[in-house]
Amino acid sequence: MAEIKYSNKINRIRTFALSLIFIGFGIMYLGIWARQIEWLMLIFIILGTLAIVFSTVVYFWIGLLSTRAVQIICPNCEKPTKMLGRVDACMHCKEPLTLDKDLEGKEFDEEYNSKKYSKSNNGQAQEKSEE
Ligand SMILES: [Zn+2]
Repeated sequence: MAEIKYSNKINRIRTFALSLIFIGFGIMYLGIWARQIEWLMLIFIILGTLAIVFSTVVYFWIGLLSTRAVQIICPNCEKPTKMLGRVDACMHCKEPLTLDKDLEGKEFDEEYNSKKYSKSNNGQAQEKSEE
């Protein structure tokens, strides 16, 4: 049952930011519900405000990421999509996409975005440590 459902990174962050707003309003609502206890109400309202402020920060971050993302036309659904990193999924049809020809046809793996893969082709010989 460990099926990996891959989704577009920008979409995932956007969903996260949106859910933060709902969580923030939810916490604030709890604050209204707890208004008989002043300190508890204050804590809920502060936490709710923090969640909403944090989601604004995340939205701002998505804006920055979007400018760095590569816009491509998805080969599967032919809609324009944005991808981050070397591998990402289409925003519309979740088709796995890659910018790297070496990875084409390979098993889809988020690990390809990590640094150890991005520097695998520099041809440096392993240093020998001798005493
Ligand atoms: Zn697509």
